[in-house]
Amino acid sequence: KTPAFTNASVEKYLIPIQLNKITKSIFRFMRQDAVIIALDDTQIAVLIYDATPLLEANAVIETQLKLVEKQARTDGLTQCYNKTMFNELLAIEIKKSNRHDYTFSMIILDIDNFKSVNDTFGHLVGDYVLKELAAISAQNIRETDIFARWGGEEFCILLPQTDLEKAVGVADKLRRIVAAHDFGEAGCQQCSFGVAQYSKDNRQSDLVRHADEALYHAKHNGKNRVAAYLDGRQFTLWP
Ligand code: GH3
Ligand code: MG
Ligand code: MG
Repeated sequence: KTPAFTNASVEKYLIPIQLNKITKSIFRFMRQDAVIIALDDTQIAVLIYDATPLLEANAVIETQLKLVEKQARTDGLTQCYNKTMFNELLAIEIKKSNRHDYTFSMIILDIDNFKSVNDTFGHLVGDYVLKELAAISAQNIRETDIFARWGGEEFCILLPQTDLEKAVGVADKLRRIVAAHDFGEAGCQQCSFGVAQYSKDNRQSDLVRHADEALYHAKHNGKNRVAAYLDGRQFTLWP
């Protein structure tokens, strides 16, 4: 004898009413909220409310939200993570590292003489090089590594549970892969790499600065090289 309710989000509809012939709804059937009331022992009344517009609006908002969230963490050109997202993931990695007592490393890489690519072949070719570089780099690291665009023609990689020596190995492998790659109209391209390992007394900005200083060391020692940051602003170089 108590009224029963059905909710459109749970019971998608009570009575199938096709919408596709009436409107251009994203749903095939009308979404319905319904109330069922017993009138006496043999009869019920069913009140049906059309919940389609509300659920349609919700679906549109949800799709838009997902898009905005993706855009907030993605670089528009290369579709890899952007700097904001990288910094968020780096902060998480530092917490994990401190808690579980394992280390990790980061790499910053920068395309050598990239300005001349734009100057010689134009910005579209420059953009192609950036996209291609992001794709081949992401393909040649572990799935658990995080690859992001730091800005301009600089990218960075976070390598969980990886010490300096192993990270240098990854950087040098990428260096050789990039140098051997055919970038189409832009031909052959090279990158310089800076590598640093996280240590417990580091702040986030320290680690980034170490990797950045190593990158500058590689740049100022001939480019197409990997430099690693050691304690006290000492660097080692490969090859
Ligand atoms: P270095 O070897 O010292 O790194 O020299 P470089 O020429 O690579 O560095 P520089 O900082 O002088 O120039 C970077 C260039 O990258 C300049 C800028 O126009 C270009 N650039 C930055 N972002 C983009 C982009 O999204 N698309 C294109 N096509 N070019 C970009
Ligand atoms: Mg640069
Ligand atoms: Mg450069």
